[in-house]
Amino acid sequence: IMAQPWGYAEHNGPEKWAQNFPIANGPRQSPIDIIPAKASHDPGLKPLKLKYDPSTCLDILNNGHSFQVTFADDTNSSTLTDGPVSGTYRLKQFHLHWGATDQRGSEHTVAGVMYPAELHLVHWNTKYPNFGEAAKQPDGLAVVGIFLKIGDKNPSLQKMLDVFDVIRAKGKQTSFPNFDPSTLLPDFLDYWTYEGSLTTPPLLESVTWIVCKQPIPVSSAQMAKFRSLLFSAEGEAECCMVDNYRPPQPLKGRSVRASFK
Ligand SMILES: [Zn+2]
Repeated sequence: IMAQPWGYAEHNGPEKWAQNFPIANGPRQSPIDIIPAKASHDPGLKPLKLKYDPSTCLDILNNGHSFQVTFADDTNSSTLTDGPVSGTYRLKQFHLHWGATDQRGSEHTVAGVMYPAELHLVHWNTKYPNFGEAAKQPDGLAVVGIFLKIGDKNPSLQKMLDVFDVIRAKGKQTSFPNFDPSTLLPDFLDYWTYEGSLTTPPLLESVTWIVCKQPIPVSSAQMAKFRSLLFSAEGEAECCMVDNYRPPQPLKGRSVRASFK
């Protein structure tokens, strides 16, 4: 049996990714530590426009690294425009990163502080023919990062948690119709933005990151339920899906801009 090519364990985790994906040490890797005092307010940054159509939501999958909710992306029904980008980016999927405890789990950090989880809404630039081609281009992807913070139970996240028993093991998938991703957005879309990469192999340097300042709430009980998913497939030794985040990477001279003062 071939070992998993990459994961989050000691033997195949972020510290080992460069062996198979040398771009792991590249000039624009993600995530990063965002230092608010060092981010420059750019009055030229437009408000972010997110237009999501719940009818484009297709299914939810345990891909062995996270759970992922996938959207039909054959038309401009669910899109990101404005913000730091030009043109139209289509929503492809969203997924989450989280920790083994409430004290860690986000990929981006703010002045060194981690949140318990971070949501990623992944969009691709329609100037390219499809997601796969866009992911190879420096302006191919735009990912909105949203922090989760312990607080009230989140009814929108609960819709996913309610199907976790069906997708507990790697490779499991079920239909997930009519979910509205806009119910996951914070009240205010103030953001930091910088040029970065995918945070999982192949770590392609194609992402304009848009990290929201305002977190969304999640209860501690809901966080516990995220940790009931498995990295492992059915029939394998059970391995809980926790700490599926990459730590912050060197900034290497990049600038981080803020849409707000
Ligand atoms: Zn992610």
